[in-house]
Amino acid sequence: MRFTRHSWCAVVPWLVGMVLLFLTADSLAKTVHGVRLWRAPDHTRLVFDLTADAEHSLFTLENPDRLVVDISDIKLAAGFDDLDLENTPIIGIRSAPREGKHLRIVLDLKQPVRPRSFPLQANDQYGDRLVVDLYDIEKESEKTVADVVTSQGPHRDIVVAIDAGHGGEDPGAIGPNGLYEKKVVMAISRELKRLADSEPGFQGVLVRTGDYYIPLRKRTDIAREHRADLFVSVHADAFKNPSARGASVFALSPGGATSETARYLAERENSADLVGGVGSVRLSDKDKILAGVLLDLSMTATLSSSLEVGKEVLDEMGGMARLHKRHVEQAGFLVLKSPDIPSILVETGFISNPTEARQLADSSYQRQLADAIFTGIKRYFYSKPPLGTWVAANSVDGAERVYVIARGDTLSGIAARHNVSVETLLRHNSLSSTNIRVGQRLRIPPI
Ligand SMILES: [Zn+2]
Repeated sequence: MRFTRHSWCAVVPWLVGMVLLFLTADSLAKTVHGVRLWRAPDHTRLVFDLTADAEHSLFTLENPDRLVVDISDIKLAAGFDDLDLENTPIIGIRSAPREGKHLRIVLDLKQPVRPRSFPLQANDQYGDRLVVDLYDIEKESEKTVADVVTSQGPHRDIVVAIDAGHGGEDPGAIGPNGLYEKKVVMAISRELKRLADSEPGFQGVLVRTGDYYIPLRKRTDIAREHRADLFVSVHADAFKNPSARGASVFALSPGGATSETARYLAERENSADLVGGVGSVRLSDKDKILAGVLLDLSMTATLSSSLEVGKEVLDEMGGMARLHKRHVEQAGFLVLKSPDIPSILVETGFISNPTEARQLADSSYQRQLADAIFTGIKRYFYSKPPLGTWVAANSVDGAERVYVIARGDTLSGIAARHNVSVETLLRHNSLSSTNIRVGQRLRIPPI
């Protein structure tokens, strides 16, 4: 009996093994298990989610225009019906197995495109992916001299480039209740642009205008194309400790991160380039030493401006939000590395903190945040207006005024005399009530 039992013991695993072998042949075949699509201003991005890394190739066909994507040794386990093809060059997507084990996907196109594709390896958010970008073939638009001249004017606006972090296939941090950082920061950024555009002498430019990803270096390039005076990146990140809370303002650190939180966040932000695609490599045609010296000089001046504007923004935010740190932090965020544009990164709060996640999702809180950020920016530029700007022409000696309260003064009287609202005075001085005292110094915002 003992012998029989032992021989069964030997046979059972073998049987199980054989059954598994039959199952795995089919169930472990590689699949395309999801397809996502984003429309950016100059291209359309398709992301195929794969169960494992796979070889692929692309080719285009004309009359009618098509793009063919061949993926080796894979099956399709996803549909294309839910993709929103509106405003994209794609009319429809078809697929068929090829030579039994490969997959062919055909994109029917309205017009020719410049395709580009690359694989992305699995990270902590996604598995292996294949990215196919369809770049629009630009129609050349020629600017007339009149267009260029009228857009300048005698006193130019101060241009604030507003960079809503993440976007597209990079959702950023995800808070409780599935709150996406990319959505929260887009809402705050839009509000910031609205405030800048409605302020005389200022103009807001959104670096990302919709839900699509932009590589980090491209973000600073966009700011430079718009001749931005300031670059503000808006975030609401997560931290491993859910009790971490408060808003922060970062400027670039020459030597890297200055605190554990800063380092963690910096790594997180920089790795976004891996999430979103290729990080471009910069090559310079200048003499290396000269370029290095110039860059260093410019970087030093830019960094000191970044710290000053960061401090104004942090002070304003301290009036309405809890702060994580009371000073401008410095970290090696790639997006802050413009040598010529003062740049700050505003962490509006921790989306990983349940209380802050609730606030960040609230549109009136988003408006208050945008208002505080913009008030800080405005204060900085009125104290140091760039030459040739409307603000330089309209500020009093380039500095804000200070009023010392005398006996008999009322806040409404002071406000009326200086042509500002009581609300502006309160906000500008971080006051919570209209009670004032003799000798108190009030900062009067310009205009
Ligand atoms: Zn972020």
